[in-house]
Amino acid sequence: MTPFLDLKTINQQHRDELIAACTRVIDSGWYIGGKELEQFEQNFAKYCGVKFAIGVANGLDALTLTLRAWKEIGKLKDGDEVIVPSNTYIASILAITLNNLKPILVEPNIDTYNLDPKLIEDNINSKTKVILAVHLYGQLADMPSITQLAKKHNLLVLEDSAQSHGAEYQGVKCGNLGDASGFSFYPGKNLGALGDAGAVTTNDEELARTLKALRNYGSHEKYKNLFIGVNSRLDEMQAALLNVKLKYLDEETEYRRNIAERYLGGINNSLIELPKVDSCASREKKHVWHLFVIRTKFRNELQHFLMEKGIQTLIHYPIPPHKQSAYKEWNELNFPISELIHDEILSLPMGTHVSYEEVNTIIKTCNEFKI
Ligand SMILES: *Cc1c(COP(=O)(O)O)cnc(C)c1O
Repeated sequence: MTPFLDLKTINQQHRDELIAACTRVIDSGWYIGGKELEQFEQNFAKYCGVKFAIGVANGLDALTLTLRAWKEIGKLKDGDEVIVPSNTYIASILAITLNNLKPILVEPNIDTYNLDPKLIEDNINSKTKVILAVHLYGQLADMPSITQLAKKHNLLVLEDSAQSHGAEYQGVKCGNLGDASGFSFYPGKNLGALGDAGAVTTNDEELARTLKALRNYGSHEKYKNLFIGVNSRLDEMQAALLNVKLKYLDEETEYRRNIAERYLGGINNSLIELPKVDSCASREKKHVWHLFVIRTKFRNELQHFLMEKGIQTLIHYPIPPHKQSAYKEWNELNFPISELIHDEILSLPMGTHVSYEEVNTIIKTCNEFKI
């Protein structure tokens, strides 16, 4: 049986170091806002090539609090419009609506599953203030075009890097490709904690400062509250575990790339559409393969066929945001590309828990599939 994801196997690869990190935190007697967090914020900022990383409780908060901070700083106000892909994970959208901002759903490019710059420009008007660029499945959005549009129309760029830790464009990593970036360290992400965690990266000192207050009840100084903040902190235990796992991120990304290369070279079945890597420069460096997402008109049949052979697959995601009950006002809208994607996609096992031998079996099984 090849499970889609196996966190136990993934974390056992670093078991001794993870246990040592836990022991260090337990014995320190200091569990919130200490040395481990400070160290992780420094390490992660350095990894992304930015001045500041601010640890928060999860990826949703990273995005939500960044938009909140821009409101506090005076860069955004209620009702401003945020351009966001119509096929993203719901958290990208929630971060916008939780701030009384208006999501403008824009269709992705069918080949890359990421925002289509041409369609972004069609949706820009005087109320547009932010482009929320999601690097879906680990592939960078078209950041050269997006930053150019942002410059032309004076917009902020927020990256949703929850699936793309380490992805880079011409030597610049995500987290450093916009005005700010939200990361998730949910256990199943490319850089995963052993619980919930997240971070914002930015080069903007005022934003960093505001975020540090917002995550801590709106306070820089104990019992003095500047903002109506929240409690969204990255605790010492998770920070210590992340300090261990960050060291192995590049190595693990390399392994993901090797799997992707094998899938791309090996799967050859006219019923299966393979993911496309964007044709921009330094192509092989861009994609960190959080997910390997294929497309087929016979999704249910293929998923069933693979399961019978012991290969577990998942769908990311089965229902597009505009069809969710949470956003009833959008249920009648049409986003044909997103809907097609949601109907046809299937994610194959990907990560350090999958052996090359299993990859070969998955390739062989995909090639045997017929209807
Ligand atoms: C996982 C994810 C998030 C949210 O992260 P959490 O840590 O689960 O809150 C946001 N955006 C995208 C694209 C994600 O995949």
